[in-house]
Amino acid sequence: MSTQKTAIVTGAARGIGAAIAKRLSDDGLAVAVLDLDADACADTVKAITDKGGKAIAVGANVADADSVNAAVEKVAAELGAPTVVVNNAGITRDKFFPKMEKSQWDAVINTNLNSLFNVTHHVSPKMAERGWGRIINISSVNGVKGQAGQANYSTAKAGVLGFTKALAQELATKGVTVNAIAPGYIGTDMVMAIRDDIRQAITDSVPMKRLGKPEEIGGLCAYLASELAGYITGSTININGGLHMC
Ligand code: NAD
Repeated sequence: MSTQKTAIVTGAARGIGAAIAKRLSDDGLAVAVLDLDADACADTVKAITDKGGKAIAVGANVADADSVNAAVEKVAAELGAPTVVVNNAGITRDKFFPKMEKSQWDAVINTNLNSLFNVTHHVSPKMAERGWGRIINISSVNGVKGQAGQANYSTAKAGVLGFTKALAQELATKGVTVNAIAPGYIGTDMVMAIRDDIRQAITDSVPMKRLGKPEEIGGLCAYLASELAGYITGSTININGGLHMC
């Protein structure tokens, strides 16, 4: 039987998720590149397989439990049971709270927070049974400090931190670590969709005066997924160019 570890990275068709998937592959993991549309995962899968890595594209909606269950079964059948899960898929629907519609609230809570139940509930008991696992949840600086115009997003991303700490305690004796990464502003489609002048003001407010790179999140994620990170659990690692120091 293969001893290669298997990772699921959600929202890995592009941006931070794609960088994480590629970096985990560089470290020798087989990677399930999961996103809403399997076809959209082709570039990430190709980048991995071109370098000799193993990856499959998986189409699933992390906000939908049935869709996730089917996806995890597919991954287990094709790559083996997941030993590393990166809950990365996320969206924004920004509006000042009085103007925020219930549908915008629900979309962000379902995709950014309820997804953690859908994905992790399915895989964490099996990790505990095997006595090894890594669960890495992508939060945000705006879940740590709050952000005007993002009551939905800040709520979901703060919820990710509570989930991380609670599950870390449940799994601490089982060889399964649970950690969160809280990125600042990273140069992906999500941030490039912000109006130019606002994005420039954000960049100016970062002590390092630049956006982060997806690869910088990928490197941190690979460390948390590694054997060496086995004594880190329940932590939130901030990676934000000094924007919020805590
Ligand atoms: P992105 O928009 O570039 O990519 C997000 C990916 O998630 C897309 O491929 C999208 O199709 C996928 N996705 C969205 N909804 C999904 C669903 N329901 N099911 C499956 N896949 C879905 O975003 P990004 O900047 O790469 O962000 C990745 C994660 O990092 C998100 O959770 C985001 O909140 C978080 N984050 C990003 C930044 C940043 O500055 N970019 C900062 C802090 C946190």
